[in-house]
Amino acid sequence: MLDLRIVGGTVVSDGRSRPADVGVEGGVIAEVSPSGGLGAARREIDASGLLVIPGAVDAHFHCRAPSHPERATFASESRAAASSGVTTLFEMPISDPPCSTPEAFEARRRLGEAECLVDFALFSGAGLTDPARAEAMAECGAIGFKLFTHRPPPERLDEFDGLWAASPDEIYDCLNTVAGTGLRCAVHAESQHFIDRFRTDLDRFDHPARPPIVEAAAVGLVATIARDVGFPAHIVHLTSRLAVEEVRAAQSLGSDLSAESCPHYLLFDETDIAHFGTFVKVAPPLRSVEDVAYLWQALSDGTLTVVASDHAPFTPKEKENPVYIATIWLPAKGAHPFTPEKAKAASEYAAAGQGIPSLEMLVPTMVDAGLIGRFPLERAVEVMTANPAKLFGIYPRKGTISPGSEADLVLVDPDGGMTVDSARFLSRSGGSGKVYDGLRMTGRVLTTLSRGRIVYTDGKVVGESGGRFVSPDGPPLHVSQTQRPSTENGKRI
Ligand SMILES: [Zn+2]
Repeated sequence: MLDLRIVGGTVVSDGRSRPADVGVEGGVIAEVSPSGGLGAARREIDASGLLVIPGAVDAHFHCRAPSHPERATFASESRAAASSGVTTLFEMPISDPPCSTPEAFEARRRLGEAECLVDFALFSGAGLTDPARAEAMAECGAIGFKLFTHRPPPERLDEFDGLWAASPDEIYDCLNTVAGTGLRCAVHAESQHFIDRFRTDLDRFDHPARPPIVEAAAVGLVATIARDVGFPAHIVHLTSRLAVEEVRAAQSLGSDLSAESCPHYLLFDETDIAHFGTFVKVAPPLRSVEDVAYLWQALSDGTLTVVASDHAPFTPKEKENPVYIATIWLPAKGAHPFTPEKAKAASEYAAAGQGIPSLEMLVPTMVDAGLIGRFPLERAVEVMTANPAKLFGIYPRKGTISPGSEADLVLVDPDGGMTVDSARFLSRSGGSGKVYDGLRMTGRVLTTLSRGRIVYTDGKVVGESGGRFVSPDGPPLHVSQTQRPSTENGKRI
C-alpha cells in the first residue's frame, strides 16, 4: 500500500504538463499514473484544480552559517524555503570560516544536518591552486565549486579566503585546478580590471557604476578558459544583454557553459534604485529595462537555463541608508560636485550589505510568469527544478516527478494569488526584501513535501529539522534548449 497519493492534479515536470496522480512510498515517488490509476494509500491529498510541481532546487543560496546568526541560520532559512516551495538549497561558500577547507565543509555539513528542514548541498570555494585540496573538497561531497573573479570588499577578506581570484592568470589557475574534479564550477563573473576602470570619484566607495561590460568581460574570459581547459562552468546571476550574448557565443562553440538569472534581476530595473536605494544594493547592479526584457528572452530561447534566488540576507538595519538616495543617487543623475556630504553618504553606501533576500520569491516569480503567459509554465518550472538538478549531478533524484525520484513535491493553486509583504517573509532578514512589497503574484504555494514529509501546509511550516545533506550522484549533465524530456507518461524511457 502507498503511504500517500496525490490525486486529481496537473503534474508539471520536465518541460511538460499532464493530468496525473502521484503515489509516494518511503519518501520516494513510487508511481505517476493517469488520473484514477493508483492503488490504495494510507493518506490522500486531493489536488483537483491544483498544479503539482517538483520541489524547487535553489542553486544559489546564501545563509553564511555559522557566522551572522542575526541575519540567517540554516533553521530560519530552510523554513522560509519550505514555505515557498524550495526543497533543496545549494549553499554558497561565503562564511566565516569560508567553505574552502574540508574542516569548514564538515562543520557546515553537520550544522545543516542538525538545523535544516529541507535538503541542502554545499559549494566549495574554488580559489584553490592545489589539486589535492580541490579533490579533498570534492570527496567531502561538494555539489560544485564557486569562484569570484573580483576582489572582495576589504572588510570581508576573511569570509572570502579560498573563494576568489582577480587576475586572468589566477582565474585560469583556479579554474584549471578545480576542473580536475569533474564538478561544475559556478562563477560570479565581474572583471576587477573593469570595476576599477569605471570607478569614478563618486563611485570610489563601490557605488553601482558597474556597467554591463564589467560582467561581460569576465564571462568572456571564463568562457574561453572553460573551452580551452574543457570543464563544466556555470555563470551565476547574469544581468545584462552584453553578458548573455557572451554566454550564447560560448554555447554555440560547444562549451558546457550554463547560466542563471535571479528574481530581482527579472522583476526590477535600475529605476528602482531611486526608490529603494541600498535595499537594492546588489552586485552586479540592477540594469536597464531593455536588459531585463532581454533576460526573459534568453530564458525563453534557452541561453539561460536556471533561475535561482541568490538569496543574500542582511538585516534591514544593515541595508538601510536613507541619506544615500537623496544625497548620492538623485544628484548623480546630473552634474555632481563631490561634496563632503556626498562622501559621507557614499561611505555609508559602501557599508550597507550587498544582496537581496529573494529566496521566498523564487517559486512565486516563476509560477507567476508561467501563469500570466509571460513564459511557458512548463519551462518556468523546469528552470528551477530539473535544469539545476541536471547541471549539478543530482537528477533524477531531485528536480523531477518521476518514479524512483525523491518525493519533493509542491502543490500550487493556479487560481490563488498573493500581494507580497516582505514583513511576512520567514527569512530572518526578510524585512530587507522591501523592493518586492506590493507586487501582485498569480498562483500560490499551498503545500510543500520534502521526501514525502509535509513541511508546509495551510499557511504553516511543519517540523523543525530532518533535511538531508545532498551530494552529486554522478557527473554534471549538459542542458540545452533542444534537450528532450527523459520521461514519457511518467515512465522512464
Ligand atoms: Zn551570490
